[in-house]
Amino acid sequence: MKRFVYADNAATTPVSREVIAEMTPVFESFWGNPSSLHAKGREAKAILDSARARIAKVFSCQPSEIYFTSCGSESDNWAIKGAARRLAKKGKTHIVTSAIEHPAVLNTCYALEKEGFTVSFIGVDEFGTVKMDELEAAVTDKTAIVAIMYANNEIGTIQPIEKIAEIAHAKGALMFTDAVQAVGNVDIDLSKLKVDMLALSGHKLHAPKGIGMLYIRKGVVIDNLVDGGGQESRKRAGTENLPYIVGLAKALEVAKEKLADIPELERKRDRLIEALTKLPYSKLNGHRTERLAGNVNVGFEFIEGESMLLWLDISGICCSTGSACSSASLEPSHVLLACGVPHEKAHGSVRLSISHETTDEDIDYIIETLPPIVEKLRNMIPLWEEVVKSGKV
Ligand SMILES: *Cc1c(COP(=O)(O)O)cnc(C)c1O
Repeated sequence: MKRFVYADNAATTPVSREVIAEMTPVFESFWGNPSSLHAKGREAKAILDSARARIAKVFSCQPSEIYFTSCGSESDNWAIKGAARRLAKKGKTHIVTSAIEHPAVLNTCYALEKEGFTVSFIGVDEFGTVKMDELEAAVTDKTAIVAIMYANNEIGTIQPIEKIAEIAHAKGALMFTDAVQAVGNVDIDLSKLKVDMLALSGHKLHAPKGIGMLYIRKGVVIDNLVDGGGQESRKRAGTENLPYIVGLAKALEVAKEKLADIPELERKRDRLIEALTKLPYSKLNGHRTERLAGNVNVGFEFIEGESMLLWLDISGICCSTGSACSSASLEPSHVLLACGVPHEKAHGSVRLSISHETTDEDIDYIIETLPPIVEKLRNMIPLWEEVVKSGKV
């Protein structure tokens, strides 16, 4: 029987009931401007302060270290541009990042190259883990900032952020991590994790699109990206999006509680990985164990990922492909290419990103539905016929 299975949670997530319930009274009643001195403003300010304190508690940091932004992309831009431009004044004009970052980081780095900064794009091994020797050799006392994502959005590989931060700090560089995919998957305790800045985004964890956050450790000073009024300690102007900020606080609290269910999510992920990698000429992309709990990314030879996506869509399964994450382009994913996956295999890669809401029945449905599609698509191409004839299946 046909089902609807949403397996594209790395692209975005539905806003949860709890988050909507928390936001609704703020839309309806607490619409004041937190900067206003009258009762309506003070009431909004109190809610803003409380949301910030709740988030600080989730991460074991100070409320004053939390800055609300409009999205993950803005947080990435602000952290890297703000640090680079500030530290350039001290002669630090070098940035270290990885080859597999999200476009919000990569394109920020390209923009800074045009401003005169030099950028080292560190390579990864076949599992998508940053090459530590290459990283260690790249960071110098000219390095302003090391920007390495906590976990990759396409292949799910989790980086050894602790060690990377040590390398950055040993040379006096700031450590920034894009944790948009990691939050809710790994426990992030900022009293222990020695990063200077960390970015996250609401819509990847069941809060709405249009709310993001940047953690900036006390004592770290970066240039502003958005100038204007005095909001966010005069560092990020714009009247606060109070309903979404409250929604983000709730989403982060829920995500932290649900860390207890991560082994269960991993179990479902592994069922899927096992079933799909049993098919001939298929291979798991990314790391087998250092991997986001909801991420499955499998490459199928002799297949176009886009055709597979369309057939899965017809069957009610939403997923994405190994083409660029801004899927308008048909270039193979820069992440898979950086892992050394050849073009033709990168083209046949499919990402299924499941969530705590995904049921075992949903997994069963994917396991029943996907293999016949693979077979059907392969049977359409002459090359596959030759493979079958030669007895290599
Ligand atoms: C989604 C995503 C972003 C961008 O977040 P937006 O809120 O959509 O701007 C940045 N980095 C990673 C790793 C992501 O997955």
